[in-house]
Amino acid sequence: MALAVVCALGYWIGRQQLRMGNELLSRSRRELKRAKAVACELEKIAWTVRQSLAKHHASIARFKDRLGKLSGKQQQADWKDLCREVEEILKPTLQLATQMANAYDEIRQQSANLMSFTEVRTDPLTGVNNRRGLDDALANQFALLARYHSVFSLTLFDVDHFKSVNDREGHLHGDHVLQELARLLNQSIRETDLVARYGGEEFVVLMPQTDRAGACQFSERLREVVESRLEVTISGGVAIAGENDTAESLIARADLALYSAKIAGRNRVYFHNGEATAPVEVEPARAAETATG
Ligand code: GH3
Ligand code: MG
Ligand code: MG
Repeated sequence: MALAVVCALGYWIGRQQLRMGNELLSRSRRELKRAKAVACELEKIAWTVRQSLAKHHASIARFKDRLGKLSGKQQQADWKDLCREVEEILKPTLQLATQMANAYDEIRQQSANLMSFTEVRTDPLTGVNNRRGLDDALANQFALLARYHSVFSLTLFDVDHFKSVNDREGHLHGDHVLQELARLLNQSIRETDLVARYGGEEFVVLMPQTDRAGACQFSERLREVVESRLEVTISGGVAIAGENDTAESLIARADLALYSAKIAGRNRVYFHNGEATAPVEVEPARAAETATG
């Protein structure tokens, strides 16, 4: 039973891992380790219960034997002895039952913690990370940048003319488009990347260990995938994190680049180099490669 709980938790965490950033991953691993430790304790208790039950069976057999020998005389002292013996026999069994119940409660609590950990970081409409999930992942990336100088990039995408999609097709259809977009982004990114819904029709793609060239190429590729598969197009703004950045300053640069992409005509990706914005240029060889898959 305890092993089944661990397997279920392991499977559940495995699915979530694809969507979480490094910090979220390691926190989930810690949670799983704790859940496994609890389950392990539970296994030990179950083993003790089995041992104890075997002894218990033997005691009951002796008890029946004595009862049979009393042959109806029912002397007072013997009955008192028997009652005391019954109490002694039952005491450890009851203790073990309580221990089992406590251990199972703890397993349930661990499982609930894991659920709420994900729930508060998930956007209910699209199932991708929400702002809180993004904030956690960004904090982790900035810590890695400060400690190991590990570069990372971020792109802010915004659906083009989304208001007119809602006006034309209705708000429910608009919701569906957002869900499709989130799904497409999520299945196009690397396992270590993260997608978050930043606002209404704005999404962030966070790319750990990705430099300017990689982030620009990849963001352009995402734009192309959306253009070819969905009824809407997206514009994107790319920014690379620097040692002096905060989450706000990084996103502000991505937002400026996004704004440039919008005024340049939409359905394109711009990059902010720290001083100014410029369109993302895709190398011809790479563009051909992306176009074929
Ligand atoms: P632009 O190309 O400049 O981005 O134009 P736009 O129409 O996309 O931009 P605008 O900011 O004017 O409109 C955004 C629209 O997104 C308006 C808002 O109603 C819609 N929206 C925001 N959140 C949701 C949502 O959860 N569901 C739906 N269906 N629509 C949403
Ligand atoms: Mg917008
Ligand atoms: Mg928009």
